[in-house]
Amino acid sequence: MWGWLRRLAGTPRDIPDALWQATLTDYPFLATGLPAEQQRLRELSAGFLANKEFHGAQGLVITDAMAVAIAAQACLPVLYFGAGRQPLDWYDDFVGIVVHPDEVLAQREVMDEDGVVHHYDEVLAGEAMQGGPVMLSWQDVAAASSERGYNVVIHEFVHKLDLRDGQPDGCPPLPAGFLGISSARQARDHWLATLQAGFEDFREQVIRAERFGAPPPWLDPYGAEAIDEFFAVASEAYFVNRPQFAQDFVALLPLFDAFYRPGA
Ligand SMILES: [Zn+2]
Repeated sequence: MWGWLRRLAGTPRDIPDALWQATLTDYPFLATGLPAEQQRLRELSAGFLANKEFHGAQGLVITDAMAVAIAAQACLPVLYFGAGRQPLDWYDDFVGIVVHPDEVLAQREVMDEDGVVHHYDEVLAGEAMQGGPVMLSWQDVAAASSERGYNVVIHEFVHKLDLRDGQPDGCPPLPAGFLGISSARQARDHWLATLQAGFEDFREQVIRAERFGAPPPWLDPYGAEAIDEFFAVASEAYFVNRPQFAQDFVALLPLFDAFYRPGA
């Protein structure tokens, strides 16, 4: 418990072999890259752990294994975002990662068009907001599934990428010359149009399943809620089950490859 991690004190140190190997065994999609890519993920994860502070909520004790598992999954989306510590800059708007044992009931309120405030509860497996800590439910982290394309850590950290430009709109900041498109505006339009088409297909599939008993999609139907949720849910699938993602989201594959693997 906190043994190795507590001694880090801001200085990245190699993640011990046994700890790293155990993480790859528990989350096999982390081990699909080439040996050099796996080594890079391990280094970035160590840098991430040195920068971030984990807090266990409701008495949850964060073990080294839990922290390394979260770090490695958080670093996977930014693995190719530059040399050295550059990828970690994408997460420099926050320090804290709050881990709850289970899902969290959040009290929400919305004001309708007549100015009446409605209160409701929302069950959260995780939450990310700009400039704030990332919240995760450990039970949901541990329920990661390549078969179902489910991964709450990737989901929340992809929200962080999306929020990097201040807007939860499903479009992260795109690099100059993205997909050979010279203008940043056009690149963004292309991204949003492609994602929107995928989102609408997915939403149709969820509606057909819920209303008419059609086979449900293999991904979390929460992705049908809004385009930024679809981006996060589709990214989960991209990272944990690329073959299935490539088959089902033909138009999204080149888009995500260009963003997550620039120069590949
Ligand atoms: Zn979400």
